[in-house]
Amino acid sequence: MTRMPMLTVNGGIEIFPLPLNEEEHIFDPWRIKYTKSHILHSKCSKNEESCGDDPQPCQFCVYNSALEMPHMPDMVFPNNILYLQHKNGAKIEFNALDALKRVSNGKIHLQLACAEAWKESRSDCKEYLEEKVKPFDWTFTTDYMGTMEGVTIEETEERINVEKLKEKEHIRFYQELTLFEDELHDHGVVSLSVKIRVMPGSFFILLRYFLRIDNVMLKINDTRLYHEFGKNYILREYTSREAQVKDIDASPTLFVEPSCIAPHLPLTQSHYDKLILPEKPTEPVNPKKTVPNATTETAEAASSEASVDKSVNNLMT
Ligand SMILES: [Zn+2]
Repeated sequence: MTRMPMLTVNGGIEIFPLPLNEEEHIFDPWRIKYTKSHILHSKCSKNEESCGDDPQPCQFCVYNSALEMPHMPDMVFPNNILYLQHKNGAKIEFNALDALKRVSNGKIHLQLACAEAWKESRSDCKEYLEEKVKPFDWTFTTDYMGTMEGVTIEETEERINVEKLKEKEHIRFYQELTLFEDELHDHGVVSLSVKIRVMPGSFFILLRYFLRIDNVMLKINDTRLYHEFGKNYILREYTSREAQVKDIDASPTLFVEPSCIAPHLPLTQSHYDKLILPEKPTEPVNPKKTVPNATTETAEAASSEASVDKSVNNLMT
């Protein structure tokens, strides 16, 4: 790989001046676009301290003020965004900021707190134990299902046709984006990524949160979106799978590959929704109305019955 010349910005942070990579495709009536670029700086890139009241704050300050986390994942990709827009006005987006907004602040993962090896590795752990900093979820666990606008969300009995997805079809477009990643101070990995593939008659999206705390636990939160062109809705399936390492009956060699280990983790939560698209063009929607994770009120109740979880993990590896 050719090493790119580095750029030094305020505070001596060295960054690679990568251009924003973007691509846009029209699959009528859909416009599908992605943008991709470098990681978020680890401190303010405009001022000594922070952007404060600057009307155009740097990305670090935007994240920092929106999230109020003691620290963010090692690698956050603020420009890695997948957008889908329907000609009648519906918008679906996957971005790191909305995903991180759903990480619980003030709560700490129980199993994590019990992991001694982990505790010793954290420089801020002492401060946490001494209650100098607000505890937060170091695993950045998120139940983010995408940011939706202009769709009506209804609970559904319909499931994604996994058999149909397995058929070998021409792939018209494929992209994978990492939204954030952290190596948990060499004690495992946590990542959130989104993949999309567009086929002649449909598109399929997999948003995956993957957590592995070495020798402690694994967790996978998956959101799948499937749409057949011509239908007025998208199917959205959310599943959460989790197990402690001692309870997993599978070779640890599988622990590094989320799609391989997922079938070995018990399902702990699920929601099945239909995202209904507007039949007619809607008025330009106020962007403030964009709702991360909008879900049906009855989804919780339905999830306990939803024991059939057909995995499509291997389809986009
Ligand atoms: Zn700033």
